[in-house]
Amino acid sequence: MCTVTADDFEQARDLVAAATRITVLTGAGISTDSGIPDFRGPNGVWTKNPAAEKASTLQNYLADPEVRRLAWQNRLHSPAWDARPNSGHMAIYELERQGRLRAVVTQNIDELHQQAGHAPENVIEVHGTMRWSRCWTCDDRRPMAETLARVRDGEEDPHCLVCAANGRVGILKSDTISFGQSLVPEVIDAAFVAADECDLLLAVGSTLSVFPAANVVPTAKVAGARVVIVNAEPTGMDRLADVVLLGQIGDVLPALIRV
Ligand SMILES: [Zn+2]
Repeated sequence: MCTVTADDFEQARDLVAAATRITVLTGAGISTDSGIPDFRGPNGVWTKNPAAEKASTLQNYLADPEVRRLAWQNRLHSPAWDARPNSGHMAIYELERQGRLRAVVTQNIDELHQQAGHAPENVIEVHGTMRWSRCWTCDDRRPMAETLARVRDGEEDPHCLVCAANGRVGILKSDTISFGQSLVPEVIDAAFVAADECDLLLAVGSTLSVFPAANVVPTAKVAGARVVIVNAEPTGMDRLADVVLLGQIGDVLPALIRV
């Protein structure tokens, strides 16, 4: 936390200490300490391989079996399966334990907040979850582990078993929001209600450049909440914040919350 000045840290800590209904918005930066690479950072998946971003669009996925075969191999070998919550996730869970958490709104799909201990209803996953698969035809949803077991057993592009039993073809995908795919309206609505009803918006590990999720910050601000941003690099919403702490999330967050 060498780049965090003592004054800024004290001010942020006072704001967190005074808040009673905190909504936390998290992005990929909170999970990098758990070994999950982010997408847009200096070592991000898409920064290093722009073709991967193109291939991840919904349209390409549905149209091209080769894109799906590659996607299933990437899922099978994802570092996320071995990832565990880190000190940043645990610090946010501490807010729930203290009874001061309104909600966690997360752009992450790794379920590390739930693994940290949160009640599932307190975690709003605006971009879905990689731990479930969903059929594009019939919406059948089941644990990703079941579908990955089929890939491991040799199915390169597993299709929906429910649809197959009814003589249909159902393409399976992780239950995440791909590029070109609409957000789930009820989920994004819940995120904005949580922003509207908080007295402090704490944004952690997000560049705040992906919309509409990033609009949680101005929504909270307009509703009268204080805004604290913790990230390794400047964000698109720094001008709206009461305090911006540029530093290592895993160090800054526990110090900020465990007062
Ligand atoms: Zn199906």
